[in-house]
Amino acid sequence: MQRRLKRKNHKASTPHSLTRQSTLRKSLLTLLRSLLPWKRAFKASSEFTPLYGENRPIEMRPQAYVETPQHRRIEWVEACGGPHRPLGKLPGGLRVGVIGGGPAGVTTAFEAVKAGAQVTLIEARHEVGGRARSVELSDKNVAEQGCMRFPPSASALFVLAKAFGFAFIERFPNPGTVPTLVSYGDECHIWTDAETNLPGFENIKAGWDAFIEGGCQINGRSFESCAKVVVWLESPQIEVRMKAVSTWQAYITEFQHDTFREGLQKIFGLTNITPPAGKHWTKDDFNRFGKLGIGSGGFGAFYNVCFLTVLRYVPNSCETDLASFAGYVDGKLQAMGIRSLWQSIWESATKQGLKSLLSTKATSVTKRTASDGRTVFVVRTESPQGPSELEFDELFINLTINVANRNLDLGRKGPDQLFPDATCEALKNMHMTLSTKITFQVPQSPLFNDPAFPRTLITDGDLPQAYCFDYGDPKTVVVMLAYAWEEDSRRLQSEKDPAKLFRRLKSLVEQVVAKSPYPQWAQILQPVGDIVLTHWQEDPYALGAFAFAEPGQDRHCATLFYDFEKKQGPYLIGDSYSHGNPWVEGALESSYNCFSAMVKQRGTLYHPDKAPVNLIRSGIYFYE
Ligand SMILES: Cc1cc2nc3c(=O)[nH]c(=O)nc-3n(C[C@H](O)[C@H](O)[C@H](O)COP(=O)(O)OP(=O)(O)OC[C@H]3O[C@@H](n4cnc5c(N)ncnc54)[C@H](O)[C@@H]3O)c2cc1C
Repeated sequence: MQRRLKRKNHKASTPHSLTRQSTLRKSLLTLLRSLLPWKRAFKASSEFTPLYGENRPIEMRPQAYVETPQHRRIEWVEACGGPHRPLGKLPGGLRVGVIGGGPAGVTTAFEAVKAGAQVTLIEARHEVGGRARSVELSDKNVAEQGCMRFPPSASALFVLAKAFGFAFIERFPNPGTVPTLVSYGDECHIWTDAETNLPGFENIKAGWDAFIEGGCQINGRSFESCAKVVVWLESPQIEVRMKAVSTWQAYITEFQHDTFREGLQKIFGLTNITPPAGKHWTKDDFNRFGKLGIGSGGFGAFYNVCFLTVLRYVPNSCETDLASFAGYVDGKLQAMGIRSLWQSIWESATKQGLKSLLSTKATSVTKRTASDGRTVFVVRTESPQGPSELEFDELFINLTINVANRNLDLGRKGPDQLFPDATCEALKNMHMTLSTKITFQVPQSPLFNDPAFPRTLITDGDLPQAYCFDYGDPKTVVVMLAYAWEEDSRRLQSEKDPAKLFRRLKSLVEQVVAKSPYPQWAQILQPVGDIVLTHWQEDPYALGAFAFAEPGQDRHCATLFYDFEKKQGPYLIGDSYSHGNPWVEGALESSYNCFSAMVKQRGTLYHPDKAPVNLIRSGIYFYE
């Protein structure tokens, strides 16, 4: 749930005895006082250097996902001439509907329009972007309430961004990549280099690094290293990429029913094995890893999700070299809100004929047989203009799994069932994570002139993580004071008032930094303007942050992902239906897969040898 707090208007009540002049003087004083933080920052602006030095672009590093080693995602788009060229040809009269204007919906609508179809996008909110939600705080600053960090392996995203004049810059301020205050129990460290050991975390880091680089042994069976799988998946040769399959199958067979915590126990905790790096993890190590990872942020929130769900981030390089979204301002690269990308793509699609119904909510989807015997899809909608009914020849549904299931009952069985049984079961049974973010801008501070002054905080307490962002405004810094998941988010969720939650978190910061070399850190927390609070599980158009399989649910991910092959019912697009990545790149992957399947049925594919529908096949992995 997203709520904003406007800065309080300090309007003084005016006693009748005061003269008009003194009233005016008083209100001027009040106004000046309310502007003071800005004024101070503005005066000093020339003294401040950018928070993270020069913004340098980062290049993409294309690779296949371990679930789909048959293709590298962007090869089809590139073979067809890049994102501004069509990927195929569709009949001009084909009526294509897209429900949801998130990254997957906007991209699919853009592709369908370029291919020549008659396309209608239905979006419940007043703007496109979905969980790529960049809330404006000022003319430069944004609160990035949804997605905010992107790995160079996200090749579809990187290529789209470049085609629309955007880029990515090195170094999202992840813990350890920028000066980070790490608080664990009574310990407090300033961590400036992720490559160095954080005191107290040596055993975990040695074990984790050895596992990633060298694999592990469990009950006499060897598991190849994830690092080697990445090298295979980066290969331009399909035979090399396919080597990943037997390795990942071994992980699936061993870990499909394990929680992340149980999987770690098998690798590092069992006394009858020799763990990677040779030393077993102690109870304290598991606790530290849960609270703070290897210093990079705790995994405890995810201890109950499926081991494979978390581990696949490694071979798919989802967490490697995370970058920030950026654009060019006066010829210089500058971090900016990623919603701009989807807005630009949507504007381009609109110029090419896309019809959009914004502030229009789809309330039901059914199918019926038209007079010519073909199946058509009927979408009922509600908007400020009232209810309506639309009919489409092809339909793409870009809703999170919780919205699809709870709000539109898409997993229903019976006479008006839309999907095969296995898809319905998967739709009804997938878990979505909870997440809370609270973000605001503060005046720049001379404290940031100290290059070692922490830009990021992580703690084992109720304050999960805090980040400082630089969007190029010399007067302000954007602070995300909480980025919480699962139980951490559930605890914060009880507070709906952004100002109250801010005060609660600030007092936690004060306690944490009091024992650090930077007790003055809390002084920077003087919000100017809106405080933006989002509890994603309460957002009516998301009902969660993203799909994260619980033990045993990985097979559901596979079912949803491969649904496009069966072609029964509408196409499900979005990160909830990706197998390789529950992030933007996964959303784009599902969009291109389903779009290629639809064009194959209805029109002509360009470069069909590179189209995902002709390359990706289900059945390369087996589940019990
Ligand atoms: C807290 C958080 C952090 C994240 N961090 C990252 C990250 O760092 N990196 C990354 O790559 N990804 C991240 N993600 C995931 C990323 O935001 C999604 O993968 C991305 O938004 C793609 O989503 P999508 O297109 O599948 O769906 P969405 O973005 O959810 O779009 C779905 C659209 O459907 C609309 N809608 C809902 N109901 C209806 C209805 N009834 N009728 C019509 N329209 C409807 C919604 O308003 C929305 O616009 C994060 C997400 C969250 C919430």
